[in-house]
Amino acid sequence: MTDEETRNEAANESAAQERERRVRERIGTVEAEESKAYFSRELLLWYDRSKRDLPWRRHRDPYFIWVSEIMLQQTRVDTVIPYFNRFIERFPTIRDLAEAPQEDVVKMWEGLGYYSRARNLQAAAQQIVELHDGKMPSEREHVFALKGVGPYTAGAILSIAFNRPEPAVDGNVMRVLSRYFLIEDDIAKPKTRVAMEKMIPELIPEGRASDFNQALMELGALICTPKSPHCLICPVMEHCRGRIEGMERDLPIKTKAKKPRPEQRLGVLLEGSGEHEGRVLVRRRPKTGLLAGMWELPHIAAGSGAEAGDLGLDVAQLEELLEDRGLAWSPMSPYLTAEHTFSHIHWTMRVLIAREESETLAHLAAESGVPYAVAVPEAAEAEDELIDEETGEEWRWISREDMETIAFPNLFLNILNRYFAGESERE
Ligand code: SF4
Repeated sequence: MTDEETRNEAANESAAQERERRVRERIGTVEAEESKAYFSRELLLWYDRSKRDLPWRRHRDPYFIWVSEIMLQQTRVDTVIPYFNRFIERFPTIRDLAEAPQEDVVKMWEGLGYYSRARNLQAAAQQIVELHDGKMPSEREHVFALKGVGPYTAGAILSIAFNRPEPAVDGNVMRVLSRYFLIEDDIAKPKTRVAMEKMIPELIPEGRASDFNQALMELGALICTPKSPHCLICPVMEHCRGRIEGMERDLPIKTKAKKPRPEQRLGVLLEGSGEHEGRVLVRRRPKTGLLAGMWELPHIAAGSGAEAGDLGLDVAQLEELLEDRGLAWSPMSPYLTAEHTFSHIHWTMRVLIAREESETLAHLAAESGVPYAVAVPEAAEAEDELIDEETGEEWRWISREDMETIAFPNLFLNILNRYFAGESERE
């Protein structure tokens, strides 16, 4: 074979390879398109026949959808349902929510955790009243401008309530997409979320944005669950690449979040006596920061002594906290230990119990000259409220009935409910 013939043969072979590569690419594209169309079609058919009857699905009211989406963040559907019903009954419109005392809004949220969600919800309701005459806006930039509304919630409101082809990508959705399309990118990285947000509008069939996004969330919640995906009954199993490759349990890829920082706390449950009989002493947290504005048992950050069972210095510090407020009490004894994890902190709260000595707070405060004043008794219960004039901290003696009206984080709610229920489990 001459040199020229050899060159021609090589050129022909490379042209043939290029043609084959293009054909394969084309088939791949067609398959990918078919796989996407199949996914959307089967998902919607399944949703139409299997969707759960949830209270916020009975109307397309954007307010209901907004409240439900905020409540559902970090919280299970079963837990949210009674909260949602009570919340909507108490604040039936955006205007009702905007005009309510903040304390009432947080109280309705009590037990759901992540209380800044409730405060932001109310602040956003006030924005809507001020700027949009109390009606949820349907323009993208106006919805994004609402306090506490991030890309996920905005997408959920715009798609579910207004049927706009907007992505609403949360952990459930990322899990389903990672598995179905065999995406091995780390879903903890923002760029993975952004890439998935770009995929969604391509998957939404014309005019079905509301149902499509809900169907995707529903599949993640009921079938494509985190630990044991139910592939055998999954409506999209036939083309699910994660399942076909046997990787459904390995996906999504997610780098672990940092472990919450452990913190030892030492608190006291001080039982009232005399005019405070049947009550316990609580204080209100600062207006900003963790659990802002909620009520709690007095407590301090404890050192390693508490962890080791030697309370020593920590008890002295706790006693000082009470002494500074003009209180006197009987010896403290161990009551219980409770744990609670916030997103970034884990508290181990050791609680002591003691009984107030009979002198009244006001009397002791006057005697010791500490800067306390009994609050002006505007409300009936205010006579038991003390305000630290230096820090603005509020302290109160509360009864079981007061638990109905003031808001506690779960940790203290559980301790106080147990106490008032008479479960005085002493260590
Ligand atoms: S087939 Fe399995 S892994 Fe794939 S989407 Fe369905 S449940 Fe998830």
